Amino acid sequence: MDKGAPNIAILGAGVVGLTVADILQKDLGKANITIIADKFKEDTTSAVAAGIFCPGSSFRGATREITHKWIDDSWYYWQDILKSSEASNAGIMELSTYIFARDNYELTKNPLLEHLVSNYRAAREDELKLCGPGWKYGSYFTTVKIGCDRYLPWVERRFVDKGGRIVSGKVDSFTSLRQYDLVFNCTGLGAKYLCNDFDIFPLRGQVIRVKAPWLKTAFFCDYDTYIIPGMDGVTTLGGVRQHDNSNLQVCKYDAHAIWQQCCEILPDLRKAEIIGHNVGLRPYRVPVRVEPEVIGGVKVVHCYGHGANGVMSSPGTALNAVKIGYDYLKSNIRNKL
Ligand SMILES: Cc1cc2nc3c(=O)[nH]c(=O)nc-3n(C[C@H](O)[C@H](O)[C@H](O)COP(=O)(O)OP(=O)(O)OC[C@H]3O[C@@H](n4cnc5c(N)ncnc54)[C@H](O)[C@@H]3O)c2cc1C
Repeated sequence: MDKGAPNIAILGAGVVGLTVADILQKDLGKANITIIADKFKEDTTSAVAAGIFCPGSSFRGATREITHKWIDDSWYYWQDILKSSEASNAGIMELSTYIFARDNYELTKNPLLEHLVSNYRAAREDELKLCGPGWKYGSYFTTVKIGCDRYLPWVERRFVDKGGRIVSGKVDSFTSLRQYDLVFNCTGLGAKYLCNDFDIFPLRGQVIRVKAPWLKTAFFCDYDTYIIPGMDGVTTLGGVRQHDNSNLQVCKYDAHAIWQQCCEILPDLRKAEIIGHNVGLRPYRVPVRVEPEVIGGVKVVHCYGHGANGVMSSPGTALNAVKIGYDYLKSNIRNKL
């Protein structure tokens, strides 16, 4: 531990907390950084996510410009890893994707993504038949997928290898963290209680994971149905978006509906081995909260409430949070930097 360097705590070891830690460590080599969390890796919401880079229309920062910057910064962050020799270890891959709709071409467009990918285009007539009859509108593009089963352990290992500390435990108030010069609050849904924030709520999701090594393309169709292949031949089938539902148990009715809908779209899925069912509570908040606050004398930078897009958008919001934190530290009278 470097006694002259600032002490920084990051609350949360989901994709947001770990990505903040990674960026912070790169920027502030001299700091003592500790991650504190009560859940890690496969026990986090992040591990349930399909992890596709496909921003939803409800994903928002405080302004339109901020939203665009977060998404653009995130895209280039993932592209850098994708182009590196670490891509596979980190679980980052390219993914061809179709969005199909029966009623309206606009539903298949994505204004937050179209300028980033090089090949966003309308689906051709033959492509509209890939998921059975009745699909009148479609778009095609190539995006990235972040597999949290690999990314979380990879980025955690990188953090520890560079001298980061990890502490397991639940934090009940910020005032218990007075020994830190700065605290990043990346607690996802946990912020509801920690910050008494009534603007964040659970958006329940459920998925089925299947072994379908022949699938190389992702599909989004009506009724929130998606089929998203990943590494190791594992495909994620979803899904549901249930507002203000905190039930973490697998619901057999949801599982049945997901299975039927996905098999209707791609009948070959009936041959796939089911590996498991997962439930996660998306930390839904509009806007996502990235801002500073002094709580009981502790300097806090919030970075939570990423809803259905927290995996893909974690680097952009993390870069923003780290910049705020850096300015905070510079204004610190003790200025240890
Ligand atoms: C079914 C499903 C599919 C999804 N698909 C995608 C997708 O394709 N693309 C995408 O970008 N996103 C997707 N998401 C959304 C994504 O999973 C979330 O936005 C993201 O995981 C949020 O990350 P987080 O780090 O904020 O939260 P979490 O992963 O929940 O991590 C929160 C961390 O904070 C800790 N914590 C909380 N409170 C405390 C406390 N008081 N004390 C100590 N530690 C605390 C927890 O232990 C945990 O370590 C999906 C989500 C679901 C459920």
